[in-house]
Amino acid sequence: MEHNSALLYRYSLVILVVGFATPIAIRWITKLPCASFIVDKINPYLIWPSTIGTYHVRPLPWLLGNAPTLGQAWYIGGFLLLNIILSCLSYWPVYPLPHPWGYNKRGEILAYAGYRTGEFAFALLPLTILFAGRNNILLWLTNWSHSTYILLHRWIARLFAIHTILHSIFLWAARVQTGTYNKDVKLPYWQWGIVGTVFVCVMLVFSLLWMRRFSYEVFLIGHIIMAILVIVGSWYHLILRFGKTGTHEYWLYAAFAVWAFDRLLRILRMVKNGVRKATVTEIGSTHVRVEVPGVRFSGKPGFHGYVYFPTLNPLKPWENHPFSINSTALLRSYGIGPHSPGNSLRRSPKEDGKIETKVTESHAHHDPGTTAGITLYVRKSTGMTRLLQKHASLITLLDGPYPNNPPSAVLSCDRLLLIGGGIGITGLLGFFRAHVDVKLAWSVKQIHAAVVQDLESAVSSVSDREIRIGERLDIRALLQQEVQAGYKKVGVVVCGPGALCDDVRAVAASLGRHEKTVFELEVDTFGW
Ligand SMILES: Cc1cc2nc3c(=O)[nH]c(=O)nc-3n(C[C@H](O)[C@H](O)[C@H](O)COP(=O)(O)OP(=O)(O)OC[C@H]3O[C@@H](n4cnc5c(N)ncnc54)[C@H](O)[C@@H]3O)c2cc1C
Repeated sequence: MEHNSALLYRYSLVILVVGFATPIAIRWITKLPCASFIVDKINPYLIWPSTIGTYHVRPLPWLLGNAPTLGQAWYIGGFLLLNIILSCLSYWPVYPLPHPWGYNKRGEILAYAGYRTGEFAFALLPLTILFAGRNNILLWLTNWSHSTYILLHRWIARLFAIHTILHSIFLWAARVQTGTYNKDVKLPYWQWGIVGTVFVCVMLVFSLLWMRRFSYEVFLIGHIIMAILVIVGSWYHLILRFGKTGTHEYWLYAAFAVWAFDRLLRILRMVKNGVRKATVTEIGSTHVRVEVPGVRFSGKPGFHGYVYFPTLNPLKPWENHPFSINSTALLRSYGIGPHSPGNSLRRSPKEDGKIETKVTESHAHHDPGTTAGITLYVRKSTGMTRLLQKHASLITLLDGPYPNNPPSAVLSCDRLLLIGGGIGITGLLGFFRAHVDVKLAWSVKQIHAAVVQDLESAVSSVSDREIRIGERLDIRALLQQEVQAGYKKVGVVVCGPGALCDDVRAVAASLGRHEKTVFELEVDTFGW
């Protein structure tokens, strides 16, 4: 029996360490000298393509979920395999000797499998929480994106749920065999176990994409409450059964520590940024520009932050949403913002009358003595953002800035191709001056043309550009032009709707397989 217990801990640790260390190991391996040549070769074959058609950011039909890329699938598949192998490996029953609790051979193996899957579920808990966090240390140690970790969070959570359900089934069957089930089920520890398992199952259903789409806020609050119930259920299940043994409960301490670390850092970031008063300027009827003064930000490309407007909806002051961050000083240098010289120009209506150019400015005080301050461009959606309207001093809190994908790889290419769809331009603005050879391709719907007007001076600073209003970009033609121009290595950054991101991924992978030009791909999605 000791052998089975020893394996239980050893295998659980293996699962945790492999799950945590694999992204770091991959990062180190890909940084080895000569590795970049191999990485460039395998990316279009084994990493970038989606596992199902070209679906990735775009959800699968009937909102079945988001298909992983091949790169993500290697991790998921490998980790799943490890879990299956370690769940099946090396059980040593005491049979044919009699078991002290009355198990026969089958019952004994069921019980050991039940304990093992239960322990594995506990070991996965810190990892599940870590991958969902904004302050996930793996984001700092690797170049994997937050959206990748969120996708992996869902898969690891599913594994956690499978282990939990198997744990319940195996131990139920084992106790049926010994004839003690009717007694066990009345014990408080068993009932807390049922609470945990039931909420794990409810969470599985409640986290499906259709629920997140139905109402992200309801999903988020429900998700957090149920996660707390699962952890509380697990705690009492454990403590009422074994007491504090100095073993199993450490998984729960670790899970709590990971969660608390993330929350603490969120608060510290908000405290550091302080309570700010933002200027909100309407850009047509569908967008706003939000200038938050005083927040110190490097102005480097590729950052987002979680923004709170607590007075906008006083019933839900905790509500916050991610937005791409740009330096206000950078935008001012293009003449964008209140009192900037470009405003009168942008306000004048176009002669053909097709584009609505109404830009209603609020009056903000800009301190020329500082470059601190960030600007957001927000497309009004159906939730909190629909309440944003012209405001001279809207109370604003910021949790951030957080980096998107690290941009160093795309910036080290011979050419930088920026592809934006609609409000995705906000994720690209910071790149305009970050490289000597930039091309910008941006398409927006006709009804959002006012944003093009507002950003006109920034956009026209990129001499090589293709701006489409009311038309789609031809992604294949765009990337093929880079190949035909003879560039050796092209960095592609895409930011916009899911379909655009998925098209760029598919075309870059396809050209990367068949052409000499090497592509470096960075997909910044506006959702996860
Ligand atoms: C990294 C990142 C950067 C972004 N940058 C911008 C930007 O610069 N400008 C812009 O207009 N939009 C940006 N978005 C999208 C923006 O966050 C959503 O449009 C916004 O949250 C919608 O708010 P709402 O209350 O009006 O949402 P709703 O209309 O209620 O929801 C619309 C959809 O937005 C998504 N969503 C809502 N809340 C969140 C949340 N807290 N976290 C993640 N997704 C959420 C959900 O998928 C939901 O289905 C960005 C998103 C991400 C992930």
